[in-house]
Amino acid sequence: MLVGLTGGIGSGKSLAGDFFKSKKIDVIDADDLAYIALAKEGKGYKNFLDVFGKTFLDENSKIDRKALREHIFKNPEMKNKLESIVHPIVQDGILDFINKSQSRYRIIIVPLIAETKSSSFYDRVLAIECKKEIQIERASKRDSSNEKQILKIIKSQASTEDRNKIANDVIKNNGTKEEFIKLLEDVHTKYLMLADND
Ligand code: ADP
Repeated sequence: MLVGLTGGIGSGKSLAGDFFKSKKIDVIDADDLAYIALAKEGKGYKNFLDVFGKTFLDENSKIDRKALREHIFKNPEMKNKLESIVHPIVQDGILDFINKSQSRYRIIIVPLIAETKSSSFYDRVLAIECKKEIQIERASKRDSSNEKQILKIIKSQASTEDRNKIANDVIKNNGTKEEFIKLLEDVHTKYLMLADND
């Protein structure tokens, strides 16, 4: 059974991922795969240089992600170019993960399942829901970034309502970590049962 774990920035996806890993469930984060793809030794690095040239390289020949992000924000057509480099590598990584995974069910963390209309790829979608004010507080603290930047990202992402529409299971993360873990325990128990009946 393949579970897509989704939610907005700062909703608690990584924390949930760590919880599932602690239960010996295989977890992969699509954002991590995208990040690795553009590392110096990553599979997309050379292709990136062919398309973007050396403009975004720092003094260590690493891609300056902040500069690249800002450029793409101002030039949306470059976003497609970047995605055409990174997406196939992420897809390969996900397929490789699915082939190798031996755990009783498996989880892929993907922030943008609703936005990319890709829910049919998963057997189940688990959405984490969090109130906007709490999301902003937690994400800005984690990233040491200002609340305005986080709000901008939240606005660019799907609404809670749209995300919940495509989800089979929704967990709220507005309370303490302990309360969140308790809800994750319940969903894990449910998934073990569903996976055994698969
Ligand atoms: P995401 O991966 O969805 O962006 P994270 O799992 O990184 O979100 O959570 C954002 C931040 O909020 C992290 O620093 C995390 O430890 C913290 N956090 C998550 N859930 C809670 C909670 N219930 N109580 C307090 N802090 C939390």
